[in-house]
Amino acid sequence: MKHGRRDYADVERYCADPNAFLAFLDTLGVQRAGLINYVAPQIIGFTPEVNDWSAKYCSAAPDRLIAFGGVLPGTVPDPGAEVDRLAKLGIRAIKMHPSHQVLSPNDYIDGNPGLGAVYERAQANGMPIMIHTGTSIFPGARNLHAQPMLCDDVCIDYPNLVVILAHGGRPLWMNEAFFLVRRHPNVYLDISGIPPKTLLRYFPRVEEIAAKTLFGTDWPGPGVPDIRINLEDFRSLPLSAETQEQILSKTALAIWPQT
Ligand SMILES: [Zn+2]
Repeated sequence: MKHGRRDYADVERYCADPNAFLAFLDTLGVQRAGLINYVAPQIIGFTPEVNDWSAKYCSAAPDRLIAFGGVLPGTVPDPGAEVDRLAKLGIRAIKMHPSHQVLSPNDYIDGNPGLGAVYERAQANGMPIMIHTGTSIFPGARNLHAQPMLCDDVCIDYPNLVVILAHGGRPLWMNEAFFLVRRHPNVYLDISGIPPKTLLRYFPRVEEIAAKTLFGTDWPGPGVPDIRINLEDFRSLPLSAETQEQILSKTALAIWPQT
């Protein structure tokens, strides 16, 4: 996280104080942010404690900060009950990171009933699941699990669960992600982690799926130096004003209506 970045002290300050982070968002003209957290004790070191942190942090301004959390079968006694607990805490989406969690999104079919319980309770609670797709070079990451097509089963078996394909399978599997967004009414595309300048090369037909496409930056993740530059680069793409408004704002407002 620290390597090569000049704003680490700022990141620490924002982590400690949601109001400092909100003031930073104000300087960027950003109204709302999703705070992405997940559980991956083995490879990253994130434990289920991230959920309580995320919920508490976002409770400072629930109209502007959307809390994401995570449930990893094997780290809690009852994964389905943990989803219900997260919903009560105020967490509004679950992030899965299959290559850091060492599981495939469709493992519930064969040997991981706890994962099925996560999807079932998320669907019942109206809680979207964001699934990381695309490569990771973090030491130990197992990229076999990061292929978008592994989400196809989930979209079929849980038709009322909102599934957001984070990063659109970049940089290897964009065609799979585009196919799934067009095939399944419940699947959305998140473009965070894709440098905006490469978006139209990765997704030349993004305008066709704009109604199901969400802007994001992945900041302060490694390799994402600056939210403002991401926004400026996105706004300078040859996309209609309507498409830009949809991707920057309306899709997210449809998934998480303003309270
Ligand atoms: Zn991710």
